[in-house]
Amino acid sequence: MAKRAAILPSWVQTLDAMVEHGTQIRVYCTRCKECRDVDLVGLRERVGGGYSLINRQCKCRLTPGCAGWNRFTYLHGVFRNLRDERSDVRFMRSY
Ligand SMILES: [Zn+2]
Repeated sequence: MAKRAAILPSWVQTLDAMVEHGTQIRVYCTRCKECRDVDLVGLRERVGGGYSLINRQCKCRLTPGCAGWNRFTYLHGVFRNLRDERSDVRFMRSY
């Protein structure tokens, strides 16, 4: 039985691709459940257009003092995890 695989579309691979496509990215917290839309253009100015948010996470910035993790989702009908599930990739620290 093959492992369930989620193939991420090409338009979520980098910030350049997401800005060009008009991809909607939202960051959410695993603990406090807060979420916020991500300003991709502003982020690109800081980290560059080749940057990828796939498999990224950072300590919660949505609620002061929260110990949860912020992870990214992209809108494709519904918000889906920005995570490559083909391999057991561990989450990397984001920007
Ligand atoms: Zn939080």
